Amino acid sequence: MTKTSTTPLILSGITVAENVRKNIKLEVDEIRSKEQRLPGLAVVLVGENPASLIYVKNKEKACINIGIHSEVYQLPTNTSESELIKLIQTLNINEKIDGILIQLPLPIHIKVENIIKEIDPNKDVDGLHPTNLGKLLSGQDCLKPCTPLGVIEILKYYSINLNSMSSVIVGRSTLVGKPLGMMLLNENATVTITHSKTENIEEITSCADLLISAIGKPNLIKRTWVKKGAIVIDVGINRITENDKTKLCGDIDFEDVKSICHAITPVPGGVGPMTIAMLMSNTLKAYKKQR
Ligand code: NAP
Repeated sequence: MTKTSTTPLILSGITVAENVRKNIKLEVDEIRSKEQRLPGLAVVLVGENPASLIYVKNKEKACINIGIHSEVYQLPTNTSESELIKLIQTLNINEKIDGILIQLPLPIHIKVENIIKEIDPNKDVDGLHPTNLGKLLSGQDCLKPCTPLGVIEILKYYSINLNSMSSVIVGRSTLVGKPLGMMLLNENATVTITHSKTENIEEITSCADLLISAIGKPNLIKRTWVKKGAIVIDVGINRITENDKTKLCGDIDFEDVKSICHAITPVPGGVGPMTIAMLMSNTLKAYKKQR
């Protein structure tokens, strides 16, 4: 990879996601040509969170485009934990369904952990069941959380060698930061995970050859946080208002950082498109496992 000091390599999640989808579609087409049962994904939405409604629509669209059988279950906000668990138990034994995704966040009266643990780990395409997280921790093959999986896919697509790379993740959520740390470790990177209680955080991030942010704080990370020549991955998706217009931005101040880093993901168009692509990939993986 070569670049000048002012033009970083743009790591395009749009390109990588397209490539992932293309390969999955080829496999699904082949399954169809053999007249076998198609992979199936069930998405469960509780309530009417506007962002969740859009995400669920996008997941349904992605399934249709690839040829994956899709079922969407929309339940009212006042659905009880036991009603939701009953639906999951039905989906666990539904032979048309290989993957079950519970759209988060759930209404506050439902405890996420109580729900996720009810999903058959073999159908847990979000990779958040304790069995899958445990397997990830011990380096075993498993279904892995989609967003961190998407980050690894971008790095691999651009032939970034993770072996012994000094990496710093900002953010330690179960959805992104922690599983990503495990995935990088499994790729032989050297990993530091930082969070809101980390002291002298800039000192730590500015030593990283690979810096990944997943915090949800618009444009917080400036060039002083970044090592010259680093690879920078921005998982953050934040909505900000500028001149009465709402736009998306990441955790990383792209304009400030772009002149000193070697490569960077934009927002939008970086990690964002990868999440659904990796969900499709996990659904195909779950299908193959179940067959
Ligand atoms: P989260 O559960 O709220 O976790 C945020 C993490 O960031 C926490 O570990 C928190 O530390 C840490 N943090 C917050 N402020 C910080 C600061 N000033 N300095 C250092 N660490 C700080 O969020 P999440 O679910 O991981 O999501 C993070 C971002 O990624 C959000 O913008 C979200 O929209 C985006 N996201 C994008 C995708 C995608 O498809 N691309 C998918 C998922 C999430 P503590 O643990 O100490 O509180």
